[in-house]
Amino acid sequence: MNLTNGLTYSLMPLDRCSNQRKSLPWLKKEFNHENTVFCLIKEGMSLFHLDETLTPYFMPKDLLCEISVHQCIYLGKGKRGAVFAVDFEKLRFSTQQAIEDIGRWQVLRVVTGSLKLDDAATLAFAKALVHWHKSHQYCGQCGNANRSIEAGHARKCTECRNMTFPRTDPAVIMLVEKMFEDGIPRCLLGRQASWPEGVYSTLAGFVDPGESLEEAVIREVKEEANIEIENPQYVASQPWPFPASIMLGFVAVANSEKIDVSQDSLESAQWFSRKQIERFNINESVINSEQSKRSSNNAHLNSQLSTQYKMSSKDSISSQLITAWLNKEIGVY
Ligand SMILES: [Zn+2]
Repeated sequence: MNLTNGLTYSLMPLDRCSNQRKSLPWLKKEFNHENTVFCLIKEGMSLFHLDETLTPYFMPKDLLCEISVHQCIYLGKGKRGAVFAVDFEKLRFSTQQAIEDIGRWQVLRVVTGSLKLDDAATLAFAKALVHWHKSHQYCGQCGNANRSIEAGHARKCTECRNMTFPRTDPAVIMLVEKMFEDGIPRCLLGRQASWPEGVYSTLAGFVDPGESLEEAVIREVKEEANIEIENPQYVASQPWPFPASIMLGFVAVANSEKIDVSQDSLESAQWFSRKQIERFNINESVINSEQSKRSSNNAHLNSQLSTQYKMSSKDSISSQLITAWLNKEIGVY
């Protein structure tokens, strides 16, 4: 596993052509090319072929003859040609109906595990930009309408000409570890009440304005679990367009041990040893909990760590940080 170059949604196969796309003649040429395809987004969902293969539907232009280049967002140039993103809800009703007949919509995160990594990155990029346009229709300065410019990578107010650019909200996510007096290193994981039963994850939170990433890591761990940490070290980042974040992964050592989740949003937080987390993986993949109980040869651990514990989903940097710590690829213990 390579945490810096293998995270889901981060392996962008397209050349964003950031300089060229600002030129309208260049953009129109890309738009009109016969190999150009369009990635449709409807209410945050992505379009797939009707069969069961979970193949993303990158639509040729002849199925979207009504659209203009100004309605589209340039994602980039791939091996087979340019890819644009389109907001399905901006299409004519007749076109929408035709598309509904030939494809099906899926929530990206639900199907990510079945996708090629470059497709997942492209769909995530499209989803992020379509969301940004929908949520920045009006000027933040004067309240008048914004219009899309620069191939969909900026919006400009039609009145005061204020420019708005796609935003990404930074969030820190951290694997906190500690060597305990019994000689066993453990890491701190927590869960929110709204998560599926038994799922535990690394702690995480948004970066405040006027705050460094390291300060955010220290503050979030203190707020969520009342644990003091020192010396957060950056590990890797992951685009997380759900709806508009980037996850910035850290590892840090705790100075305190007693957890208190009463001051913030976590339902619970606990220290877990590697031995315990190894059983998370088993629990995640075994549907019948009785099976995993039988596979254990440690009755005491088994009763302490029932089959209810699960790691966060595999597409997240959280599960990758936990796995990296499990394999002693990050951290000092
Ligand atoms: Zn304005």
